[in-house]
Amino acid sequence: MTDTLDRLLGPRGPEIGCDECFAELDRFVELELAGSDADAAIPGLRAHLDGCPACREEYESLRALVSAERH
Ligand SMILES: [Zn+2]
Repeated sequence: MTDTLDRLLGPRGPEIGCDECFAELDRFVELELAGSDADAAIPGLRAHLDGCPACREEYESLRALVSAERH
């Protein structure tokens, strides 16, 4: 039963959806720009960005905005 469920859910590892991605994006960008290990702090977010053009775009504009504020 559990094995079947695991197989249905696909590969092991953190998988996040767009809602979670948007919710964590601010923090992710902050950590990244601070030089912290954002991938370790929010596992799966980068993988989501790689596979989701909408979130990727949001990430890139947020990142540009936050880094512009710091300079
Ligand atoms: Zn997404």
